[in-house]
Amino acid sequence: MKDDNCIFCKIANGEIPSNTLFEDDDFRVIFDLSPATKGHALILPKNHFRNLYDIEEETAGKVFKLAHKMSVKMKDYFKCDGFNIIQNNEECAGQTVFHFHMHLIPRYKGDNALKLWAPKEADAEELKKMAEDIRGL
Ligand code: 5GP
Ligand code: ZN
Repeated sequence: MKDDNCIFCKIANGEIPSNTLFEDDDFRVIFDLSPATKGHALILPKNHFRNLYDIEEETAGKVFKLAHKMSVKMKDYFKCDGFNIIQNNEECAGQTVFHFHMHLIPRYKGDNALKLWAPKEADAEELKKMAEDIRGL
């Protein structure tokens, strides 16, 4: 369940020391090395999963419960004005470290730290078809 060549496996399992905000049997929460804002943190599972596609349903549920718990604590501590939870999967979506992780990013008024997407116009027919197709999967 660990990958010897994975930096996040080493950090999550304590082989590389880190400033740890939270730890239990399944996860470690650390600060990002190159933060988008003050307090930017990462939830790392102790087991190695490449990304969201590989994670089991039970772990996926635990990750979001932990994200909730951490965001409440971090909001109180950092007195931030908002909060983003981001989770990138594969290179074209911005994933650079291929061990599942969830970003916890406190936001401060005027920080201009993230521009998530440029909104486009939706096609009503296409939306209808896609929704039907996906319901049928
Ligand atoms: P991704 O782009 O894969 O969603 O996010 C990877 C994140 O990991 C980046 O925000 C990057 O700054 C952070 N990161 C990369 N290497 C290290 C490291 O060795 N330690 C810590 N704490 N963060 C890292
Ligand atoms: Zn790993």
